Amino acid sequence: AKFVYDFTEGNKDLKDLLGGKGANLAEMTNLGLPVPPGFVITTEACKVYLDSGTEPAALRAEVSEHLDALEQKMGKKLGQADDPLLVSVRSGAKFSMPGMMDTVLNIGLSDASVSGLAAQAGDERFAWDSYRRLIQMFGKTVLGVDGELFEEALEEAKQAKGIRVDIDLDAADLQSLVAHFKDIVAKETGRDFPQEPREQMDLAVRAVFDSWNTDRAKLYRRQERIPGDLGTAVNVCSMVFGNLGPDSGTGVAFTRDPASGHQGVYGDYLQNAQGEDVVAGIRNTVPLADLEQIDKASYDQLMQIMETLETHYKDLCDIEFTIERGKLWMLQTRVGKRTAGAAFRIATQLVDQGLIDEAEALQRVNGAQLAQLMFPRFDLGAQSEMIGRGIAASPGAAVGKAVFDSYTAVKWSRSGEKVILIRRETNPDDLNGMIAAEGILTSRGGKTSHAAVVARGMGKTCVCGAEELEVDTKSRRMTTQDGFVIEEGDVVSIDGSTGKVYAGEVPVVPSPVVEYFEGRMHAGAEDADELVKAVHRIMAYADRVRRLRVRANADNAEDAARARRFGAQGIGLCRTEHMFLGERREMVERLILADTETDRDAALSQLLPLQKADFIELFESMDGLPVTVRLLDPPLHEFLPDITELSVRVALAEARKDANENDLRLLQAVHKLHEQNPMLGLRGVRLGLVIPGLFAMQVRAIAEAAAERKNAKGDPRAEIMIPLVGTVQELEIVREEAEQVIAEVEKTHGVELKLTLGTMIELPRAALTAGQIAESADFFSFGTNDLTQTVWGFSRDDVEASFFTAYLEKGIFGVSPFETIDKDGVGSLVRNAVAAGRATRPDLKLGVCGEHGGDPESVHFFHEAGLDYVSCSPFRIPVARLEAGRAAA
Ligand code: PEP
Ligand code: MG
Repeated sequence: AKFVYDFTEGNKDLKDLLGGKGANLAEMTNLGLPVPPGFVITTEACKVYLDSGTEPAALRAEVSEHLDALEQKMGKKLGQADDPLLVSVRSGAKFSMPGMMDTVLNIGLSDASVSGLAAQAGDERFAWDSYRRLIQMFGKTVLGVDGELFEEALEEAKQAKGIRVDIDLDAADLQSLVAHFKDIVAKETGRDFPQEPREQMDLAVRAVFDSWNTDRAKLYRRQERIPGDLGTAVNVCSMVFGNLGPDSGTGVAFTRDPASGHQGVYGDYLQNAQGEDVVAGIRNTVPLADLEQIDKASYDQLMQIMETLETHYKDLCDIEFTIERGKLWMLQTRVGKRTAGAAFRIATQLVDQGLIDEAEALQRVNGAQLAQLMFPRFDLGAQSEMIGRGIAASPGAAVGKAVFDSYTAVKWSRSGEKVILIRRETNPDDLNGMIAAEGILTSRGGKTSHAAVVARGMGKTCVCGAEELEVDTKSRRMTTQDGFVIEEGDVVSIDGSTGKVYAGEVPVVPSPVVEYFEGRMHAGAEDADELVKAVHRIMAYADRVRRLRVRANADNAEDAARARRFGAQGIGLCRTEHMFLGERREMVERLILADTETDRDAALSQLLPLQKADFIELFESMDGLPVTVRLLDPPLHEFLPDITELSVRVALAEARKDANENDLRLLQAVHKLHEQNPMLGLRGVRLGLVIPGLFAMQVRAIAEAAAERKNAKGDPRAEIMIPLVGTVQELEIVREEAEQVIAEVEKTHGVELKLTLGTMIELPRAALTAGQIAESADFFSFGTNDLTQTVWGFSRDDVEASFFTAYLEKGIFGVSPFETIDKDGVGSLVRNAVAAGRATRPDLKLGVCGEHGGDPESVHFFHEAGLDYVSCSPFRIPVARLEAGRAAA
């Protein structure tokens, strides 16, 4: 294998091998853009190192070869005493992991070459400052010295001189600081700071490899669902300097606004500074537009490059650049992260510009982004006290208690509090707190600061750079300009779409996207929200290409009506047990506990008219569309009184000698029916088989409701579904009984109902014998909740709270199998059942109604598995439609 690629040898499609940064540096090099020469060490080399603990044998020679070539191109040698070539060594994984991994700049500087650099730059101070930065960065990231020690020494040096900012340290100050830093390294590591340039480089490369597996990198990957075995590439790039005076500087730019998608000049610039200073948000930047005044030639060139990049990548790009004494250099580009709203707008803008087609536009957005746009916003009409304003860094409306450190954020959120993490600025150590918080507020840093970039990536609400708010993390409080104080625990509201910060709880209103889906806002209207127009168009593309139909899980007319507005093409699951909550619960209780035929019939005849009325409403709201009604499937414990509570009540009553006859009977019955594993007990079809008349009553209610709708000129399309079937015999018995009831109703009402009868596939045995089951089923609906529960042996009600965190931390799975379908296990049963079922009955209709039906990744799986529809909760229907479209496009 080849482990090292010159920038001229790569391209943007080699991200697996060269990492995102390396692949794009190569692409820009080959586009003829001004990229400082360099080379990339591949992720393959990193993987070998991580697996075996040593670099691959061939790496050293390959690096030497590329270094020679680089030295030749640059006309100087790495660390050459009179004119040193300096390089940066940067990590660059396939997926961007902002601030997670290591970078070392100024490699090649040493006691021998520092004066050479000074002479070449004509700037003594600059050379010593560069050397100081090298020892600091190298000491911390490569040698593992506590970074605080360097910070303290720097602080001392400034105090000794009575100055406040680094820039006021002169060459002599920095020279003695270098000596001090070297002492720190020697004392802390027991070795001198390496003077040999190549050794510096090799150690830095190794440190970058190692940084793949730091705790914070692992945490970030888990959060972002980035596989843990990809490894990182290492970019070795000749240094250019943005800190050579006022005609130098460094900046970041976006080819369009990552928050709105609007075209224009977006970015930040920092004069006389080196790259990390901007991203770290440590010093305050000027808007990129100001660069036009500062250095018009570079500005114009940058604008042209941005256009080139956008047309080339056909997408929003973000860029890091440096200007060294008036010469512009591109240090990085990539297809930029953006807010959910911007993703939709940009996708349609690019279609309008003719850069991409509709199918491509669908790939530029996703269901998670759409879900995010459906979050509510603040009700600005309400009384609210604005206490400050920062940069709208990541949209959303977040309300929570103020906390000022990550530890408290995590602690409070674990105990169920909603918190807003408030920091002066964040760094990678704050990641845990950012995950735990509802939103993030910082008083410093711009749109490209750590807080902003990471929050946008996580879809968390973030306001950053709210400079008028004085954040004091030590005493855990924040003070506004007017002296108003927010203490830890006080509620604050932050609006990531406007940057506004409010004291107290601001009420929230629905998102315009939801208003649109609800039909209360029309995309065609002249003044319609730009975002709504974009969403409307993308949804239309998705609906045009998708093969999967999308139905709703709904069991009342209100949900059904909403689902229909959201685009549902029927109901895939009406859980009839939901119709017996509240006061009707006791009727089911009576039915279950009935021990004489008379009691049972009484309970059933009480339930029949209620059920029938429910179905009439439902069929009416879904007129013309299929409605799958599932017969009763309660794990019994959901319908009976809690055994412990009841026991205590009876015991107390007995002690008082006024035990109630009814309670005593109930307790006895509950004892008799008590199950250790109700989820594996008397539920689903089993209940229908042991309680005579139960399913017949439900089938009658469905049939009579359908008949009445028909006679009222409606178009009811009921499908009767039997839950928890494990063998075809169960289904046959139920089917026979149901057909009899239906025939009776048809006769008495004088209509033909065309009801279909099918089953859920939610037990492994059902999936494994699907060929037989299909003999007796008109349709299958995969109940992936129970199927996941029974395939894994995971109690769906318990495991997520008990040990899933440990499983996620250990990387056993990246996401709960109850959230995203386990393709290998559960999914393989689904695929087999599809094949076997269709082999028996080619016209078998196939759907899914577990929670997975609304999960983006799972929708793609169901598309590929060849299902006819997915069914999910009403609010997830737009997401399912979009993902079904993306899967088909
Ligand atoms: C399922 O098991 O996936 C399902 C849809 O049924 P329920 O969640 O009601 O058990
Ligand atoms: Mg189920």
